[in-house]
Amino acid sequence: METTVFDDLESEVRSYCRSWPVVFDTAKGSRITDIDGKNYLDFFAGAGALNYGHNPPELKAPLMEYLARDGITHGLDMYTVAKGEFLRTFEDVVLKPRGLDYKVQFPGPTGANTVESALKLARKITGRESMINFTNGFHGMTLGALSVTGNSMKRGGAGVPLVHATPMPFDNYFDGTVPDFLWFEKLLGDAGSGLNEPAGVIVETVQGEGGINPARVEWLQALEDLCRRNGLILIVDDVQMGVGRTGPFFSFEAAGIKPDIVCLSKSISGYGLPMALTLIKPELDQWGPGEHNGTFRGHNPAFVTATAALREFWTDDTLERSTIAKGERVAEALAALAAASEGVELTPKGRGLARGLSFSQPELAAKACAAAFERGLIIETAGPTDEVMKLMPPLTITDAELEEGLAVVSESVRAVTE
Ligand code: PMP
Repeated sequence: METTVFDDLESEVRSYCRSWPVVFDTAKGSRITDIDGKNYLDFFAGAGALNYGHNPPELKAPLMEYLARDGITHGLDMYTVAKGEFLRTFEDVVLKPRGLDYKVQFPGPTGANTVESALKLARKITGRESMINFTNGFHGMTLGALSVTGNSMKRGGAGVPLVHATPMPFDNYFDGTVPDFLWFEKLLGDAGSGLNEPAGVIVETVQGEGGINPARVEWLQALEDLCRRNGLILIVDDVQMGVGRTGPFFSFEAAGIKPDIVCLSKSISGYGLPMALTLIKPELDQWGPGEHNGTFRGHNPAFVTATAALREFWTDDTLERSTIAKGERVAEALAALAAASEGVELTPKGRGLARGLSFSQPELAAKACAAAFERGLIIETAGPTDEVMKLMPPLTITDAELEEGLAVVSESVRAVTE
């Protein structure tokens, strides 16, 4: 069995292997091990797909049991026991206690699939084609999702159709100097403005790939008001920040807003298995049968682990509280680093356990991540110029592991800035 890197076989498009040029084999909790037996602490967590860590035992046991009894794995969108249990549990544990009422669509296995379905549905409902997106937003790599992604680098020279997307400044894009939405509402109501009337807006409450940029609660509320006043469909893309990354199950809970459509994926299966949901206000579920189709919309092992995760982690607020507390600890450590840095300006940002450290000299962020890898910590960069060190450990990381990782972050940042 070939156990070295396999760059001769895989397309040049691969990316993460360039940051971590070793072959990984096993993983448990917050740690991942390479073929030489070297152990790494994981502050990346599958880009937000592993909020409960690697192979969480509470989810592994029901999964093993399901496979052992020949539970159906591939079910298209047939009724299955595993899917039914997931839907009932999602309703009981997630929707009802939050006073939310959504129909659940399984749009396909990935984050991009849920974004595509949300964009298509908003267009179908309104009969309008254009979407409002935000500077530095990221929504996936398919053509529709890329067209609303506010980062031209990500388009990869693919000629993405941008005619149906209008970028708007995300919160704090102008450092708070421009009055929120007033200018936009003027354009909307002005026949002479030339603006295509939009179907809706798509937004992340904390931009992940954009560099861990949290929107203020008031800004999100103003955005919801704007949508309500102007008949726009409000889509919250919670693919990366949902499932507890910022503390509450949905990242928008803190703002008290009720999006028309919510995109969820990444950590929803809880086990790193591919799964995505599009949540749709019942009155907006205007899909006809088969209008958004796909072979891999019913990954039953993912339903099994997703159900177990909801029962294990979301029937009380233990995980939410510990995520917020751990997030504050990370914020404190990053603030101390920023205060101590002399030559390079370091700016901490984030919410919950989605944290970032922005470097005034962008190239130093990648250098700090490389220095961390040498010291056994997996950590990635984000932001339009990759200027942000992105700290996204599993929410279930122990306090001791968190301290261990933060110590490596401090050492690595100091090593490249001093
Ligand atoms: N939306 C957001 C906010 C994301 O962060 C991502 C992935 N980073 C996606 C959509 C796309 O998800 P996927 O990579 O599973 O297609």
